[in-house]
Amino acid sequence: MKALCWHGKKDIRYDTVPDPVIEHPRDAIIRTSACAICGSDLHLFDGFMPGMKHGDIMGHEFMGEVVEVGSENKALRIGDRVVIPFTIACGECDQCRRGRFSVCERSNRNAEQAAKLFGHSTAGLFGYTHLTGGYAGGQAEYVRVPYADTTHIRVPDSLSDEQALFLGDIVPTGWQAARQCDIQPSDTVAVWGAGPVGQMAVRSALLQGARQVVCIDRVPERLRMAREAGAEVIDFERQSVLEMLADLTAGKGPEKCIDAVGMESHATRTFDALYDRAKQAVGAETDRPHVLREMIYVCRPAGVLSIPGVYGGLIDKIPFGAAMNKGLTWRMGQTDVRRWTDELLDVIARGELDPSFVITHSEPLQRGPEFYTTFRDKADGCIKVVLKP
Ligand code: NAD
Ligand code: ZN
Ligand code: ZN
Repeated sequence: MKALCWHGKKDIRYDTVPDPVIEHPRDAIIRTSACAICGSDLHLFDGFMPGMKHGDIMGHEFMGEVVEVGSENKALRIGDRVVIPFTIACGECDQCRRGRFSVCERSNRNAEQAAKLFGHSTAGLFGYTHLTGGYAGGQAEYVRVPYADTTHIRVPDSLSDEQALFLGDIVPTGWQAARQCDIQPSDTVAVWGAGPVGQMAVRSALLQGARQVVCIDRVPERLRMAREAGAEVIDFERQSVLEMLADLTAGKGPEKCIDAVGMESHATRTFDALYDRAKQAVGAETDRPHVLREMIYVCRPAGVLSIPGVYGGLIDKIPFGAAMNKGLTWRMGQTDVRRWTDELLDVIARGELDPSFVITHSEPLQRGPEFYTTFRDKADGCIKVVLKP
């Protein structure tokens, strides 16, 4: 079959690879009808996440039709149309029973390696390094789905692929980011990043009843898309994030802050000055947790920092004293996808959200390698790429 494979930094190729086979009786094989490139894929593409090997199949946002089912899998039949959550969940361990599928205790087949790094293993993920199980990803014609009897979302006939696909990742990611904020009717929610995750977080925060949502980015078409949903927007390159947020909240600061950017954030003008002073004072180097620093600084005391943005390892010079003394709550994680998707299917059925709004490019899988670059560079107005085998 054909698949998009990782061959090193900025090197994704459309390769011919062996077809997947059933390896365990709970598995299923699906024929991919649509898949997408996620911001998390960019961390692999840009070479920031360790643990990839030459030839690894990329992709963790995908859907399709079941073409083969393992002997113990009673939940699926050939022909079923499913979206596959990017977090692989056994459905039976302690964490899965609590709905914390992103930290499933069984699905990571390289659990020992992961535990050495993080203290504990986290769930297996598709197409996302050997630290999360080294599972072949979904930017491929066919995918083997482990624990497929629990790791799937059945798609109603009424939804097109474009409307359903993102239930596997960015829709529940934005929703969980907002849920983690425990939104009150008087809240201002500030969302850093107007990429696909930020877009879903903006809409989720509004649907969950925020009084005001503010979205911060520097890409005009992404800010426009957030504004169309009802958010106030801040262009961090042309405006002061600190001043604008103060103005919009009568000087109080947003109660809830969402980091939908993660480890590859750009420094914002307003914060550079503060940060540079600290950096000079201690004379050390740093990573790129600009958004985290800014959130800690602007968040209203007793507020919440919700972090769906992905971080890989160690970050430097976090003003933890400010966070502690302001009494901030930190909530974060990979998304417990299946935990939210029944609720989200209802939201979509009621017409409150049509996730396909975010798609700017729909291309054959074969053109995947060039569209990694287009998406990363935000070229050609690119916000979200869907690929079809
Ligand atoms: P993206 O790269 O398209 O979007 C990131 C956006 O952040 C860009 O528009 C960029 O201009 C903006 N940005 C950069 N620096 C900024 C700053 N200082 N302030 C404000 N905005 C800034 O990616 P995406 O697909 O939207 O994903 C966003 C993040 O969410 C990534 O880190 C991704 O790995 C993560 N993610 C996490 C989960 C999860 O389960 N927690 C799931 C999906 C994606
Ligand atoms: Zn993702
Ligand atoms: Zn589990």
